[in-house]
Amino acid sequence: MKMKSIVSILLCLCLAAAVILTGCGDKSDGASDKATQAAAEAVTEAAKADGIDYMVLVNKTHALPDDWEDKLETIHMTNSVGDDVEVEKKAYDAYLKLKEALEKEDIHVDLDSARRSVADQQRIMDEFTEQYGADYAAKTVDQPGCSEHHTGLALDLYLIIDGKDVVENEDMIKYTDIWAKIHEKLADCGFILRYPDGAEHITGCGYEPWHIRYLDNADAAKEIAAKGVTLEEYLGAYTGGEVSIDYGTSEIYTEQDLRDAVIRIKCRFAFWGNVDLKSIRYAGDEAVSEEKLKWLNELEPQAGYTQAAMFFTDFHTPADFTQNVFTADTDYTDYQWWLARKAGGGWDIVTFAYDAG
Ligand SMILES: [Zn+2]
Repeated sequence: MKMKSIVSILLCLCLAAAVILTGCGDKSDGASDKATQAAAEAVTEAAKADGIDYMVLVNKTHALPDDWEDKLETIHMTNSVGDDVEVEKKAYDAYLKLKEALEKEDIHVDLDSARRSVADQQRIMDEFTEQYGADYAAKTVDQPGCSEHHTGLALDLYLIIDGKDVVENEDMIKYTDIWAKIHEKLADCGFILRYPDGAEHITGCGYEPWHIRYLDNADAAKEIAAKGVTLEEYLGAYTGGEVSIDYGTSEIYTEQDLRDAVIRIKCRFAFWGNVDLKSIRYAGDEAVSEEKLKWLNELEPQAGYTQAAMFFTDFHTPADFTQNVFTADTDYTDYQWWLARKAGGGWDIVTFAYDAG
């Protein structure tokens, strides 16, 4: 398996631990915009009438519908690097239109990967479990049943620049102007950018300019693009409301550092379902001593953390909450979240507890 394929399997690290805890349950809806939700429901009903529901939501908390694989009609194509790619039929036709529109602007793309069956994902999970252990596998591989790639409607593009294939994520991400032009053309062909920058706490996935999603509905795609919302929000499946955030002051971290940490915490809450997260507050530079850093490194002996931060959170758990470390229907105040990283790197949530350490 080439690196790019592995990388695309390692998507959505943001919520890795949350997945371990939550599995693939359904979340109840709570639309903030009822009109949008009604429109979305009408679209969903229309789509259901003829086979698969093109507006389906598949993410960490919304599993693929049981009968999906029976109804799905796909085609196979061979991309420019010789890989077989399986795509849902209408999504492929729409992709060809998109490709043609882009070629008029001298932008060249191809399909890196599209559909992965639940069985394939399970096989990958098993391989990773055998090779690296269950914890690592659960952290790095999407839970089988909860990857949007199961639908056949999610496409990962790669770029062809000056006749050369650019397939590695870290190379592709540099072409920001080209991606912007590609993203402009998506809605006309019924696609959306599925994991926009800054929506990690809603989608559960980091920014992926290459991952596009077919909706078979250009109007819905245009509305999503125009409003700058995610599919979760459009379908009323995101229940997180306004959270009061206090970054305080820090001489160690920039506000962006603290923002990144807060996104990680919000991600975890977003995928715990209906927990009402009220506030997140940076505990200050003095909250983390050498001793605390040592303790966090003891909790994650492989990590080699050099920096840590602690945040207080206030939240209320719903009546049906089943996460075993929390009590249902309870107010939590000044609950601690401990994050750590190697200097300048991405934050890990190491632990959370009342008065931890
Ligand atoms: Zn993808």
